[in-house]
Amino acid sequence: MDNPQIISTFRKFLERDEIITDRELLEKYCEDETPNLKGSTGLVLKPKSAQKVAQIMQVAFQKKIPVVPRGAGTGLAGGAVPIQNEVVLSLENMNKILEIDKRNWMAVVEPGVITQEISNQAKIYGLFYPPDPASLDICTIGGNIATGAGGARTVKYGTTKNYIYGLTVVLPDGTMIKTGGKFLKNSTGYNLTGLFVNSEGTLGIITEAIVRLMPLPTFSVDLLIPYTNMDDAVETAFNLPVLPTALEFMEREAIQSAERFLNKDLPFGDAEIHLLIEFDGEKEYLDSIIEKVGEVALKHNAIDVMVADTKPTRGRIWEARRNISRALKSEGKIASQDVVVPRSNIPEFIEKLNRIKQKYGVKIVCFGHLGDGNIHVNIIKESEDIKERLSLILRDIYKLALSLSGMISGEHGIGLVKKPYIEMALPSGNINLMRKIKKAIDPDNILNPGKIFNL
Ligand SMILES: Cc1cc2nc3c(=O)[nH]c(=O)nc-3n(C[C@H](O)[C@H](O)[C@H](O)COP(=O)(O)OP(=O)(O)OC[C@H]3O[C@@H](n4cnc5c(N)ncnc54)[C@H](O)[C@@H]3O)c2cc1C
Repeated sequence: MDNPQIISTFRKFLERDEIITDRELLEKYCEDETPNLKGSTGLVLKPKSAQKVAQIMQVAFQKKIPVVPRGAGTGLAGGAVPIQNEVVLSLENMNKILEIDKRNWMAVVEPGVITQEISNQAKIYGLFYPPDPASLDICTIGGNIATGAGGARTVKYGTTKNYIYGLTVVLPDGTMIKTGGKFLKNSTGYNLTGLFVNSEGTLGIITEAIVRLMPLPTFSVDLLIPYTNMDDAVETAFNLPVLPTALEFMEREAIQSAERFLNKDLPFGDAEIHLLIEFDGEKEYLDSIIEKVGEVALKHNAIDVMVADTKPTRGRIWEARRNISRALKSEGKIASQDVVVPRSNIPEFIEKLNRIKQKYGVKIVCFGHLGDGNIHVNIIKESEDIKERLSLILRDIYKLALSLSGMISGEHGIGLVKKPYIEMALPSGNINLMRKIKKAIDPDNILNPGKIFNL
């Protein structure tokens, strides 16, 4: 979109720094963090208020201009990538935390707030925002809401979906609606808040959100436990005596990639599997459970049990875990999947995934959320011909997850990259209902067209 007439229409109500047309500056808005995916755009709008978002959409609706909403562009499903030269509407300038409501344990935030910032601000009041995608220091809360982002703490605290209590949304025709409020219960009409959560920018543009906060745990402790095989790690995980805050696993290749990326070593970096288990709560409680968890781990042949209870040691471990995705990307990751299965089916998933590796002679590195069943399956490009086989490999991986009562996306969304496979995952009745909802809200298909499913 680089029509001078349309741009001059936007100039009537947007300031100079809210409009980008410069080719070089447009570049970064043509992609997100999805490997090997690039679109194009001739216009990026960065409004500073919800009213301006509404005005933009009124113009877009009248003139049938397609628009792609964008947070920080850290998505891994191509949801924020303009594939048909759409206008990109970036929410980055709407980045204020409007309120931390101590009494109600709620925060009111603009969509462009970096997720970590919410907890940083809430900490002053002894509160925090629990959802913690590994990208929490670079992604936005708007993007998290639009993708239904998860994180390591899902096993105890749930995902973004569990923390969104109200939204202000601009619809494709520029109408602004408000849903929900600062209350924990609401049975008044359809759950419209839930409709927009996870809608990947296809139904409306989130311009404000009410998010729930929780009391900040006084203490946290992490256990890093190396194993020689996955079965022992899984047996430990499924026999923990108490609910952990996070329960992650990392294959050797994943840890070693992070070590190379960060130029730092982790203990037992050559172990086949590492478990990273976090607990939070009162110090006395944690002291009492560490020993019990250690016993369970050693009973299941752990090589060692390392306890990290200081900020620097915990920080070092989580730095490695959170950088695995970036590290693998720097070493040729060509696809990063986020399939999910009931967690008891993870051992079978990993075992059968080995057959897929052998069938295609492909390098696949896994890590992820053992506690909630969400596995990151990373396909590494070792030769050029992998590109030709990629869709077959992906199809087999999705088939495997579905055969184990799972789904093709646990937290990244469908966007563009998983769109060809959504019909494998959902019955046609479900997809048709989604199409009807989309058509009712966005009859001209101007909001993030071509994402999730074809109309
Ligand atoms: C290193 C790394 C680690 C990651 N770890 C995790 C993880 O642990 N868990 C996880 O869930 N994800 C993870 N991700 C993926 C990504 O960070 C999340 O999907 C995140 O929610 C995207 O936020 P964003 O602000 O970058 O959104 P974008 O990528 O800009 O957009 C994502 C989608 O949301 C839509 N959107 C954005 N803002 C709005 C809005 N205000 N209104 C309506 N629609 C909007 C876009 O159109 C697009 O469809 C990771 C990514 C990286 C690079």
